[in-house]
Amino acid sequence: MKKKSIRFSLNQLVILPLICLGVIMLAVSIPVVYSAIMAETEEGLMNLSYALLEKCNVMGEGDYSVENDMLYKGGTPFGEDSYVVDSVKEVSGIDATIFWGDTRMLTTIRMKDGERAVGTKASEKVVDRVLKGEKNYFSSHVKVDNTYYYGYYIPLKNSDDTTVGMVFVGKNRERVMDTIFHVILRVFLGVVVVMAAALGISLRYAGGMVESLRGTRAFLENVAQGNLECEIDDKILERQDEIGEMGRFARILQKSILSLVGTDPLTGLYNRRSCNEMLEKAVGEYHREGKEFSVVIGDIDGFKWFNDTYGHLAGDLVLKKLSEVMQGYMQGKGSVCRWGGEEFLIIYRGENPLEEMEKLLEKIRNCQISYKEQIMQVTMTWGISRYRRDDTIESLLKRADERLYYGKANGKNQVVASECL
Ligand code: GH3
Ligand code: MG
Ligand code: MG
Repeated sequence: MKKKSIRFSLNQLVILPLICLGVIMLAVSIPVVYSAIMAETEEGLMNLSYALLEKCNVMGEGDYSVENDMLYKGGTPFGEDSYVVDSVKEVSGIDATIFWGDTRMLTTIRMKDGERAVGTKASEKVVDRVLKGEKNYFSSHVKVDNTYYYGYYIPLKNSDDTTVGMVFVGKNRERVMDTIFHVILRVFLGVVVVMAAALGISLRYAGGMVESLRGTRAFLENVAQGNLECEIDDKILERQDEIGEMGRFARILQKSILSLVGTDPLTGLYNRRSCNEMLEKAVGEYHREGKEFSVVIGDIDGFKWFNDTYGHLAGDLVLKKLSEVMQGYMQGKGSVCRWGGEEFLIIYRGENPLEEMEKLLEKIRNCQISYKEQIMQVTMTWGISRYRRDDTIESLLKRADERLYYGKANGKNQVVASECL
């Protein structure tokens, strides 16, 4: 089956919702931005058209009239230079028109040939809504000589309330669309930047999770392959989430396996496997750092008789009790291992091994072990061998063994060091 990477799945989990969120944000914000700009445009045009109407109304006393193609307010002509509408355009950049009926009398709107669109007519819809309906009107489809405008119309009225014309201000639709485009572009870029930042943070976080998971997996793989000395990254162990917990459990698992394969189940002492590793380590330290050490091999005296007399369980109890005594005594001085059967090996790192082993043997002699209302006592024989520069582990052990057998052959219950041979 094809192997799937958790990074791929996590990235999918991060990227897909963010893309959806981005699309939703854009889908919601673009119409909102569009409507807001349109509402603002309409309001701006309305205000401007009222300002233009006010300008017209204060031109003079009396009603609006037209004589010889010239618009008048009372007796005051609006003039041929179209000042009223031009001033609007000058200040706001927005086109303005004053209609007499449906005809443009004064306007800033120019035709393609550059001439003012004077004399052109308003659309039927505008006539219906503004002239006949006498209502203000906002249109997004004002068309003059193929140019489109957003425009606002207000009826122009005489004192008897009859509508005689219209006031209009309009913004070129291309300019409005340009504004909308730029605002939407900014919104879009904003959303993209926010999404990119969110994506970056999420991917970084997910990346950290993936790295920790991979670290834990590599650690477990090493343990599974028997590399029990491997280490797990501290960053994983420091995590306060389930991944950190997994890493901590993996390390506990490693320690449990190490202890299972490295210790003797009966006595809890290091077994022969760990003992060999420790010997190699001690030899390395001797050569690298000059750390002296000795090996002491010991064997319980007459243990077969002991087993035969008191039974195997009593023998086991003796092994356990002696192990406790040896381990307690050697705390901080050396490591005690069960070398096999009723044989023990001590890697001794302190001074005067002979003196120390004499003291330990005395403790063993004095150790009273009670079993089924009987008090049992045993003795041991030990052979000591100090590591020498030209030694191998084999030659070192051989020497200690020889001294042990020398002790066994010469009365047992004693410690034999090099001097004896
Ligand atoms: P020596 O003084 O020469 O060492 O004599 P010994 O009887 O101690 O030596 P021998 O090698 O003849 O016997 C060792 C005995 O240790 C035989 C075996 O049953 C016993 N033994 C080895 N391992 C265990 C164990 O785990 N539990 C018990 N109860 N006995 C054990
Ligand atoms: Mg033996
Ligand atoms: Mg023995």
